[in-house]
Amino acid sequence: MVKIFKIAVIAGDGIGPEVIREGVKVLNKVAELSGDFRFDFTYFPWGCEYYVKHGKMMDDDGIEQLKVFDAIYLGAVGYPGVPDHISLWDLLLKIRKEFDQYVNIRPIQLLQGAPCPLKDVGKKEIDMLFIRENSEGEYAGAGDWLFKGKAEEVVLQTGVFSRKGTERIIRYAFETARKMGKSLTSISKGNALNYSMVFWDQIFNEISKEYPDVETHSYLVDAASMFMVKQPERFQVVVASNLFGDILTDLGAAIAGGMGLAAGANINPERTYPSMFEPIHGSAPDIAGKGIANPLAAIWSASQMLEFFGYKALADTVIQAIEKILQEKEVLTPDMNGTSSTSEVGDRMVDIISSML
Ligand code: ATP
Ligand code: MG
Repeated sequence: MVKIFKIAVIAGDGIGPEVIREGVKVLNKVAELSGDFRFDFTYFPWGCEYYVKHGKMMDDDGIEQLKVFDAIYLGAVGYPGVPDHISLWDLLLKIRKEFDQYVNIRPIQLLQGAPCPLKDVGKKEIDMLFIRENSEGEYAGAGDWLFKGKAEEVVLQTGVFSRKGTERIIRYAFETARKMGKSLTSISKGNALNYSMVFWDQIFNEISKEYPDVETHSYLVDAASMFMVKQPERFQVVVASNLFGDILTDLGAAIAGGMGLAAGANINPERTYPSMFEPIHGSAPDIAGKGIANPLAAIWSASQMLEFFGYKALADTVIQAIEKILQEKEVLTPDMNGTSSTSEVGDRMVDIISSML
């Protein structure tokens, strides 16, 4: 029997819809070639353009509407004129929180043919899997604005690290490292953040005792930034808090080919709620509407979706196809020094995948 996966598509703003269209193309082709399953896509018009018209980023019962899906495929939200914290909190972070997508997975893998700004760094040396805490920490939204007259104004932004939240992300990271047979590096800042990161380090040490077979490392976030550039081969599976993970994965994206290649998955491991797959770039208003956005990040996140549904071999095929299109250097968008359009890249990807399956 052919399995049907119900996918909610929130293509969003700017280049979001342009890149998602190509991801959908690839997903449909992979499903067709496999013959085992197919996708049923439902499109939601939510995002900043929706906000401008309706005064909200998504329907009031949006979370209810999304609950019935197997996964969410998201483009990008963001629009000049709509403050970033609104688009972020009222859609992206809302979905992550409501659906308890507490694991953010970002592959930082330098494929052959991808542009790398580092000298003397080869393909095998940048091959990391970042596991970022996605539900609390520095993004807990806890804080206050203390008004005591302008000169004495003080603003507080508090990180919230619960034992439950910290244990579950670190345990997930250990499980992943064990399954992959790789080392696990924890990112921290226990010397300066004398509550939250001391706690993080303590829990990392506690849980590491349950995984004596997993080699572990611990780096201060500042040192980790330096080593990611100087000796990226030090890192395999990496676990980090919400903020540190956010910053380091942008650095990671830069060393592994740029925003046009950076993919991310927001996972609810218990599968109680849908997980969400998205390229990590924004809506890129500067190039929106020109048909030149790079769809490879969106396609890579589609591959993460395939893996999440249990089709690891098909997911790997999609990544190999990305590597092939990069190596061919014939059909690429301008950010990859090519001259092709978004849809030409999507079409070529479909051809390559068809030749591989
Ligand atoms: P937002 O406000 O939604 O974050 P942004 O413009 O800040 O949007 P970023 O992801 O931060 O988006 O991207 C910064 C710049 O990188 C973009 O303005 C664009 O020039 C380039 N860029 C990002 N993603 C892509 C892509 N998929 N293809 C080509 N260029 C991209
Ligand atoms: Mg941005």
